[in-house]
Amino acid sequence: MRFVEDKILESGVIVNDDILKVDSFLNHQIDTEFALRIGKEFADSFGEFNKVLTIETSGVAFAITTAMAKGNCPIVFAKKSKSAIVDALSCYHADIKSFTRGVVSDVTVNKKYLNNGDKVLIVDDFLAEGNAALGLISIARQAGAEIVGVCAVINKIFQGGEKKINDLGIKVVSGARISSIENGDLKFE
Ligand code: 5GP
Repeated sequence: MRFVEDKILESGVIVNDDILKVDSFLNHQIDTEFALRIGKEFADSFGEFNKVLTIETSGVAFAITTAMAKGNCPIVFAKKSKSAIVDALSCYHADIKSFTRGVVSDVTVNKKYLNNGDKVLIVDDFLAEGNAALGLISIARQAGAEIVGVCAVINKIFQGGEKKINDLGIKVVSGARISSIENGDLKFE
């Protein structure tokens, strides 16, 4: 999507050959018009779905705009943090390694909010090695839900996540597909 590429070129900061910082519109401050536009693009890229699944925190805004563009569609966000009120048996779980922090979190979704027969669209801010999306796919499958597809605002295809998801037969839709970041030079596919 051209408007996402333009936004990255205008406001993105290349941290190193692996990481792009987009705090001004996506990860800290959120450009709400941009979020509405991408939500509509994501929703229009798929047929039927009745739930959007994401992971806290940065995926939530884009999950909401996607679900609102669809209409009559809740979002569910997987929780990374352990809480005294989370009962392990009442939740679906996945161990997800954070791309940016390197730590593994036991990510949970309460069984009440994902059900057999749900048609789930997964939405996140970035797709890199695919660990977050694969963890969400695992959680949706534990519930017996159907996975309609995966959406990422920014997909760094050179880090391999998209291929792993496509190999499971799941379609990926991205706002921008970055084919390389090398010595401060970012290329789109
Ligand atoms: P993956 O699990 O696909 O390896 O990485 C995706 C997750 O890591 C996203 O939820 C996102 O929060 C984070 N992430 C991956 N790459 C980047 C990046 O270049 N910049 C930022 N800000 N976050 C990233």
